[in-house]
Amino acid sequence: MVRLAQPARQTLTGVFAADTFLSMRRAEPVVDTACGVVYFARVFVESSRCHGWNERPFSVNVIENLLKLQDADRKVRVMATELADIPARKAQEQERLALHKKQVHEQADVQKHHLAELKKLELDVESFKDKIRKLRQQQLELKSNKEFRAMESEISSIETDIRGVEDKQLTLMDTIEHARNELKEREKALSEEESAVKRDMSAWDTRAGELQQAVAAEKTVRTELAKHVDPAWLAPYERVFDRKDTALVEVRDGICGGCHMQLPPFLAHEARKQKSVVTCGYCGRMLYSE
Ligand SMILES: [Zn+2]
Repeated sequence: MVRLAQPARQTLTGVFAADTFLSMRRAEPVVDTACGVVYFARVFVESSRCHGWNERPFSVNVIENLLKLQDADRKVRVMATELADIPARKAQEQERLALHKKQVHEQADVQKHHLAELKKLELDVESFKDKIRKLRQQQLELKSNKEFRAMESEISSIETDIRGVEDKQLTLMDTIEHARNELKEREKALSEEESAVKRDMSAWDTRAGELQQAVAAEKTVRTELAKHVDPAWLAPYERVFDRKDTALVEVRDGICGGCHMQLPPFLAHEARKQKSVVTCGYCGRMLYSE
């Protein structure tokens, strides 16, 4: 049975044949063979697919309102993204500070180890000197020259050991002095970094508060704007916006402003006529043209 197209939105049916679509473009009544509905030119057709939608009276306000809505949605999205990034940014900064603290502590530990080593070398020298003093005492009591020379040789060997240890002490003292200066600079830099991170944490918290307020305010604006958009246009807009950076894009020179693909002439033409909203067959964005 043949029925006339309903004035309200209907379910999606089939794909129109090319000649059927052309008939519709010529505003001739046609029948959707899939559902048996007779359509007149006042039907919403997208990419030759019957959407079972009657064409809704085009109003520039619809596009204007949708563009305002999109502007609000984009602002909310940008601010919400920035807001969501703040904890990660704070964590990143704190992790960097923690790493620098760890490095400075490790360097301080190395310095402590060097100082302990220097102390040990000093004790070694004292021990060697003490040994020499004792040998000198014993030397006074020796009877033969042979014993005296043997002990002299032993003392000489200990003195050589002392010079070796003293060389190590000098090298280590150079290392300690250099490390002390470097550590001092790094501790100063760390202290400045700690202050900077503290300031940054406070600034991030302030920014988060500002963004939360701005998002809430923009959402209120968005809610008001949405009230002025026909739900039949709002629903597809929201579906596309959920997946894309923009849902409604301008057609310029027959090119989709979203994916920059050349549109089929009839789509570009429909968008230019501004009699109905059409959708890009490549990216799914809704099209309009001034
Ligand atoms: Zn596109």
